[in-house]
Amino acid sequence: MTEPHSKADGQGGPVPEQDSAKEAGVRVRLGQVRFVLVTTTHPGNIGASARAMKAMGIRQLVLVTPRHFPDPEAVALASGADDVLDSAHVVSTLAEALLGTTMAYALSARRRELSHRALGLREAAAEAIGLCEAAPVEAISGGPSGPIAFVFGTEMSGLSNDELIACQALVHIPVDPRFSSLNLSQAVQLVAYELRLEAGGVQLPSTEPQVLARHEEVERLCEHLEETLLASGFLDPNAPRRLMERFRRLFVRARLEHEEVNILRGVLTSMRKWAEGNPKVRAPARPHG
Ligand code: SAH
Repeated sequence: MTEPHSKADGQGGPVPEQDSAKEAGVRVRLGQVRFVLVTTTHPGNIGASARAMKAMGIRQLVLVTPRHFPDPEAVALASGADDVLDSAHVVSTLAEALLGTTMAYALSARRRELSHRALGLREAAAEAIGLCEAAPVEAISGGPSGPIAFVFGTEMSGLSNDELIACQALVHIPVDPRFSSLNLSQAVQLVAYELRLEAGGVQLPSTEPQVLARHEEVERLCEHLEETLLASGFLDPNAPRRLMERFRRLFVRARLEHEEVNILRGVLTSMRKWAEGNPKVRAPARPHG
C-alpha cells in the first residue's frame, strides 16, 4: 500500500454531523454489523479499512491474528478513524471473532467449490440489512458486538476453506473476471458502501437553504421585463405572440430565488439606463465601417 498520505487528505475533519431521525435509523441498523479482517499482513490495510468503515458509519472492527497491530502505519492510513482502531477487538481465532453472530458473510474474490450459498454483494447487503431490522441480539459482554459479520481474508491468499466453512454464505464483489482481486481495504469500502445504501443512508450534504421568490416578486419582474421589451422594440404590442406567457412559464420552471429576481431586475434597470444614454454607463465601441 503506497497511498500518498498528507494532513490535507480528508482527515475525517469536523464535518457537521447530519442528525436526523433517518440518520439515527441508519446508525441503529449499521450498529449491528461487524467487520472481521483475518490475518491481515499490512497494517496500512487495517487503517485504510477503519477509515472506509467509519466513513460509511460502521465501527465494529475485529482483527483475527493481525501480523502487525497496533502499528503507526495503521494509524496513518486511518486518517482520523483512530477511534475505530482503538476499539478494535484483537482475537486469535475466527471462531472468537464470530462469537454472538447470527450470520457471517465470507468475502471471496474467487469462486469456491463449496456448498455455501453464493451471493452477489448487493444481494448480500440487502439480506444483511433485512436481518439487522430483526430484533438486535445481545452482545456477549466484553466481546465483539454486532450479530451480522462480514469476513475478509488475508491479502495474499484470501480466506482458507476452513475459514469459509465457518461462515454461512459466500459473497462476491462483481469485478472484471480477468482481474478479480481487489485490495483488502477497497473490498471493505465497497461492502460498507452497499450496506450504507441499503440501510437508507443516502442523504446528501445539505446546502444553505435558498429563499424562493414570492409570487408578487415574479409578477413585478414580469412587468419590469415587459416594459423593457416594449421600450426596446422587441415586444410589439400589436403582435405580442404570447411572449410574456412564455417568460412566465420559464420563470416558473426555473423556481427563481428571491436573490435571482433582484439580479434580473437589476440587469433590466442597468440595460434601460444604458439604452437611454445614461452617462454613467458607457456604450460599447462600435466597429468602424
Ligand atoms: N488473492 C486473494 C485475494 C485477497 S484480497 C484471493 O484471490 O482470494 C483480500 C480480501 O479482500 C479477500 O480475501 C476478500 O475477502 C476481499 N476481496 C478482494 N476482492 C474481492 C472480490 N472481488 N469479491 C469479494 N471479496 C473480495
